[in-house]
Amino acid sequence: MTAADPDNDQPPSESSHLPQAPAHKGSVTKSGIVLGPDGKPCRTCNSARDMTNLSRMLTGGGKGKPSALAAAIAPPPAYPSDCPPDVEQLGRSTWTLLHSITATYPETPTQSQKSDMQQFLSILGRVYPCWFCAGDFTTWMKQPENSPKLDTQEDFGRWMCKAHNEVNRKLGKQEFDCNLWRERWKDGWKDGRCD
Ligand SMILES: Cc1cc2nc3c(=O)[nH]c(=O)nc-3n(C[C@H](O)[C@H](O)[C@H](O)COP(=O)(O)OP(=O)(O)OC[C@H]3O[C@@H](n4cnc5c(N)ncnc54)[C@H](O)[C@@H]3O)c2cc1C
Repeated sequence: MTAADPDNDQPPSESSHLPQAPAHKGSVTKSGIVLGPDGKPCRTCNSARDMTNLSRMLTGGGKGKPSALAAAIAPPPAYPSDCPPDVEQLGRSTWTLLHSITATYPETPTQSQKSDMQQFLSILGRVYPCWFCAGDFTTWMKQPENSPKLDTQEDFGRWMCKAHNEVNRKLGKQEFDCNLWRERWKDGWKDGRCD
């Protein structure tokens, strides 16, 4: 999550990027911590930094509530690599899987392969463990101009890049040049560093 601001106890504004939740999925506290359906902080919906700040606030650790600036510039806490993922680690791993799937998708898929992929993407939008990420992804995919392009490997690779860029934009990150998707996810960079 990007917009969690531990100093902001105002309800989220429409432009704040804080997720709006269907009640059965979860909710968001005034300070921007995303809760799961069980009412507890959802680890796969928050960043490790957000969770650490929350924990510090609850336990009174440190010198009181961290300021928004301090929270923003603090290095991400390093959880040991065998801990459950936060929203960022989950995202990186999932994008690796999704782009790798496009890189091995058939050049000319059969109807059945296209249909499998269509179903896979719909199901992903229902089961992805960050509920507001899943909701936004599904809403985006449902717009006619964003429906998955599955006719060829190139179409699918570019579509996935576009989907990823949509999230990059939402998070204020730099967009990726989709002309480079094959080098990044299939062939390796032209300078040979991946060979
Ligand atoms: C479906 C989905 C929805 C998500 N929604 C949210 C959300 O709403 N809020 C939230 O906080 N996080 C969300 N995430 C997680 C988020 O996208 C990032 O994965 C996370 O913030 C970690 O980012 P990162 O900077 O490490 O790189 P990532 O964005 O995870 O990217 C990994 C690598 O992919 C490459 N890359 C980047 N962009 C592209 C592209 N367009 N095409 C091809 N390759 C690319 C780069 O080499 C990059 O290093 C979502 C993840 C997924 C899979």
